[in-house]
Amino acid sequence: MVGSGGVVVMDEGSCMVDVAKYFLNFLQDESCGKCVPCRLGIDRMLEIVTDITEGRGTLQQLDLLEELAETVAETALCGLGKTAPNPVLSTLRYFRPEYEVHIKEKKCPAGVCKAIITYSIDPEKCNGCGVCVRGCVHGAIIGEKTQAHVINTELCQKCGICRSECKFDAIRVVCENEVLNAAICQR
Ligand code: SF4
Ligand code: SF4
Ligand code: SF4
Repeated sequence: MVGSGGVVVMDEGSCMVDVAKYFLNFLQDESCGKCVPCRLGIDRMLEIVTDITEGRGTLQQLDLLEELAETVAETALCGLGKTAPNPVLSTLRYFRPEYEVHIKEKKCPAGVCKAIITYSIDPEKCNGCGVCVRGCVHGAIIGEKTQAHVINTELCQKCGICRSECKFDAIRVVCENEVLNAAICQR
């Protein structure tokens, strides 16, 4: 269609399920509510994608999501509703395994979905410099100077600031006891 265009560059540090959720959130606000497919279809798609990013998703929901997206695209009244399912349909088409990993293994490979990740400090790499302690506004990191620090997961809000500030690559993202790829976590 004639209109504005843009390019968004993403890498393996972007979770495609979270990307679909982001766009659905935006579209939910933009829908005028006149027709049912767009008004309720976006709500329901957002509910399913949210369930998936929070570890409650099922494979049945994934099929329902696809069917719902196709139905909204076919039946919504105007261009906004007809294109609203695109983020879901294209991420499902090209990144379906990412959805499936969230559902089957409760893992976010990109380390983005906060409900299913935790932050922790690798005691082998941490030298106790204290930089992360000063960066954490939630007071979630404790430790003695020059000693390995630890993150209190009760207080941690998973903002990722400590990970971006640690120069020693000591802060890792963990999903279901598995440390995610360090290269991916460098964000
Ligand atoms: S498809 Fe268009 S008319 Fe229908 S609710 Fe969405 S924005 Fe409104
Ligand atoms: S910034 Fe890194 S090395 Fe320094 S205390 Fe924190 S985790 Fe340890
Ligand atoms: S992720 Fe954020 S809240 Fe959690 S320990 Fe790091 S800086 Fe603190």
